[in-house]
Amino acid sequence: MASRAHVHDHDSGEGLVPVEEYVEGILARIEPLAPIEVQLQQTLGCVAATDVRAREDMPSFSSSAMDGFAVQAGDVEKAGPDRPVELRVVGRARIGERPDATVGGGEAVRIDTGAPIPAGADAVVPIENCLSSQESVRVLEPVPSGKHVRPAGEDAVPGDLLVPAGRRIGPPELGILASSGAARVLVHPRPRVVVLSTGDELVDPSQLPRFGQVRDANAYTLYGGILEMGAQPILAGRVRDEVEEFREAILSQLGQADAFVSSGGVSVGERDVVKRAFFKRGEVEFTRVAMQPGMPQAFGTFEGQPYFGLPGNPVSAFVSFEMIVRPGLLKLAGRRDLHRPRVTAVLETEVTGPKGKTAFARVRVRETPEGLRASSTGGRSSNLLTTVARANGFAIIPPGVERLEPGQECRVVLFRVGS
Ligand code: AMP
Ligand code: MG
Repeated sequence: MASRAHVHDHDSGEGLVPVEEYVEGILARIEPLAPIEVQLQQTLGCVAATDVRAREDMPSFSSSAMDGFAVQAGDVEKAGPDRPVELRVVGRARIGERPDATVGGGEAVRIDTGAPIPAGADAVVPIENCLSSQESVRVLEPVPSGKHVRPAGEDAVPGDLLVPAGRRIGPPELGILASSGAARVLVHPRPRVVVLSTGDELVDPSQLPRFGQVRDANAYTLYGGILEMGAQPILAGRVRDEVEEFREAILSQLGQADAFVSSGGVSVGERDVVKRAFFKRGEVEFTRVAMQPGMPQAFGTFEGQPYFGLPGNPVSAFVSFEMIVRPGLLKLAGRRDLHRPRVTAVLETEVTGPKGKTAFARVRVRETPEGLRASSTGGRSSNLLTTVARANGFAIIPPGVERLEPGQECRVVLFRVGS
């Protein structure tokens, strides 16, 4: 029997790099892609490269929120149903047009919803509260100054921040940019990310695996994760555990990629292709990270383009993507908020992890009248992809803690919202 001293303890964190430290180290080596100016429609999903500020009042003119009469509030102060105030109708304010009259004392201008408020007027009396003829209107209620008026600059005034640098442009930002006249916008381009799967055993999802073969799941998980975070995945296929094949796959993509992600081949096995391909070149560093799953990691740069080498187990690959690759790609894309939201939830089941590492336990978080509750979606092994598919978060079991009991609070990284 081997003496205990020679048995590697997989639960120990000894000699491993803490996960936060590993991620920070990678982020420090990634710079956002150089900004480009693109047409408004093409900015959807891209990240604003500069603060976009209002250059004019939004809205640019004050308008009526009602169909009715634009008046001076002071004139109708004492109006009531039994003592109407009669005003002379001096003109018309139509939507999209300059009003054809101004409002003086004792005067009113007929106005439509959305039409500019004529000069002199400071309130609108809705049509329902007036009796009108051609030349005059009898106002049956008082209106305070500003009533039913949408003031110019109510939404934003020149200099107001409309879209901050680092914000991913979504539908509301497109609307704001359009409204403010930003027809072209300076954005960081979407990173083009090459995805590679390594392993002699891998086959395409459309294939029937022979005994011992495995369908390539990681390429698809990574594809989804990359697309979802706003980058552009390039599926470069599967490579066998051959050093030359792997190098060739990387080198052939160098010109058209901003980053690389591969799965598999980063452990210590003799077939571990990534390790052998880069071992001597020194461009890629192999690190044992104090996390579970996802301990063996590789990171480096090729001609300045980041390369992430993830372990092959599907859960390890996913957790590694979420905790390490995603923040890195977000930084490359110009984002400033790089991390998933975290919440505190009360456990409904126990979760466990190896003592020396940060464990990311797959849990389902749900909202209850008593607050957030989290329950484990299954076992700890890193090949159990269904446990991820049922989960929406990773419960964090910090180093030094092996077990969190039902009823205890824990921090959870939420990697998806909604069903
Ligand atoms: P490796 O990190 O290459 O040692 O792979 C660890 C385990 O994950 C092995 O059982 C592989 O068959 C499996 N694996 C590696 N890559 C993939 C993949 N792309 N899809 C599904 N399973 C994979
Ligand atoms: Mg492999």
